[in-house]
Amino acid sequence: MTIVSLTGATKAFGATEVLRGIDLETRAGEFLVLVGPSGCGKSTLLRAIAGLEDLDAGDVRIGGVTVNDRSPSDRGIAMVFQSYALYPHMTVAENMGFALKLAKLPRAEIDAAVARAADTLGIAHLLDRRPAALSGGQRQRVAIGRAIVREPKVFLFDEPLSNLDAALRVKMRYEFAALHRALGTTMIYVTHDQAEAMTLADRIVVLNGGRVEQIGTPMELYEAPANLFVAGFIGSPA
Ligand code: ADP
Ligand code: MG
Repeated sequence: MTIVSLTGATKAFGATEVLRGIDLETRAGEFLVLVGPSGCGKSTLLRAIAGLEDLDAGDVRIGGVTVNDRSPSDRGIAMVFQSYALYPHMTVAENMGFALKLAKLPRAEIDAAVARAADTLGIAHLLDRRPAALSGGQRQRVAIGRAIVREPKVFLFDEPLSNLDAALRVKMRYEFAALHRALGTTMIYVTHDQAEAMTLADRIVVLNGGRVEQIGTPMELYEAPANLFVAGFIGSPA
């Protein structure tokens, strides 16, 4: 079953054509990784799926429904950004439960959802702390926790590890894999780190200049790159 599909996704900012007719489908439960050089349109593509950018042409479907005209909060997705601004005056538990509080869920349901997500992420012991008292990796887990409690159909991650140091990045990479196994939810994950892409992806989408160069499993891209661009990208050190 297809969860997210883009057909002919096109977007320009002024004279800059950023997405040039992108066709893409994610399957249920898939970990799809978007890679490509800086400025190739990765963030714009995620933001278009999330509803934070309107397309000039083309369609975004989620769960078979065209969502072009739906607001971000009405798309069943949750996005985690590279700079995961937490609310500094709130505790971890309050940060994680905030979206549910806005949605007016009963307190007991919010607490239960936050406790479940905190268990999954190994941060149950941090629930009473404020963001200033957390390490970078812990803050990143809280940001992911804020997304998990909403039980989205799809997670969108935009370079979630790029603010962390190299050792922590590798550790968190394995945590993302474990999180995906635990939740089984469709994830679309942007990175420019090719080792991260090769480790995490069920399939990789290689973007270049607003177009899809190739989509395939890490092994397919490694063994049969469609062109020199893909070969160069997959073969280059992180
Ligand atoms: P990536 O995430 O792959 O680095 P982006 O999607 O952020 O690329 O950006 C693609 C191109 O679109 C870049 O040239 C960037 O400068 C431009 N761009 C992105 N957002 C805007 C915006 N809001 N206004 C104008 N130009 C933008
Ligand atoms: Mg980006």
